Amino acid sequence: MALRKLVAGNWKMNGDRAALAELDAIAAAAVDHGGVDVAVCPPFTLIAPAADRAPGLPIGAQDCHQNAKGAHTGCISAAMLKEAGARLTIVGHSERRADQHETDAEVRAKAEAAIGAGLTAIVCVGETEAQRDAGQALAIVEGQLDGSVPPAGTGDTLVIAYEPVWAIGTGRTPSVADVAEMHAAIRAKLAALLGEEGAKVRILYGGSVKPDNAVELLGVADVDGALVGGASLTAAQFVPIIAAAASLG
Ligand code: PEP
Repeated sequence: MALRKLVAGNWKMNGDRAALAELDAIAAAAVDHGGVDVAVCPPFTLIAPAADRAPGLPIGAQDCHQNAKGAHTGCISAAMLKEAGARLTIVGHSERRADQHETDAEVRAKAEAAIGAGLTAIVCVGETEAQRDAGQALAIVEGQLDGSVPPAGTGDTLVIAYEPVWAIGTGRTPSVADVAEMHAAIRAKLAALLGEEGAKVRILYGGSVKPDNAVELLGVADVDGALVGGASLTAAQFVPIIAAAASLG
């Protein structure tokens, strides 16, 4: 089943109010290419102004806390993000799994909190280079899915992003065959975890997606879109990726 593609930008800890000007052309491209979904996830401080500036463009966060409120200094709840104008949030990005030591169980709790607050959760999974070299990539990702996927996730509320850690920000990408093998394995795992709904959950590829490799990567079977880091920071780089997704239907 061909799913509607989603191209989501992850600005990470980049951007300021001046950078929101990039959203004008990104929002226009989203309208021009109405056959694909587009979203941008800026830092927390830019969510509200981004949502105000581009009301038609889904704005997301890059994390949320698993609890609704309480004594968690420096954290933010899914309901707070929703109130700020977010429609989705990334959870379990490999940078957070590494830097903040987030476990699969925490990632699942965050995804459940996001969905409970009315946000779509993009759950990230992916192996390190050492794990791939050791022939463990499929087992690692399947294990992350076992631990991180919320059982109540649906095609409307849950997205998976496969992001090999060694491909993020490096300019390196897996072969088309390796992407196809991994996405097929993720699809099978989603069917095992979610039943029929698993066929409706979009699986994004992320890791050094650029305008010049987007058609190749987005054209792989079971690649239902892209999670884009560096190339989402400017419309000049992000819009051609949106166009590439649209060209593939
Ligand atoms: C990311 O961190 O989600 C990502 C895909 O980054 P980049 O596109 O810069 O590799």
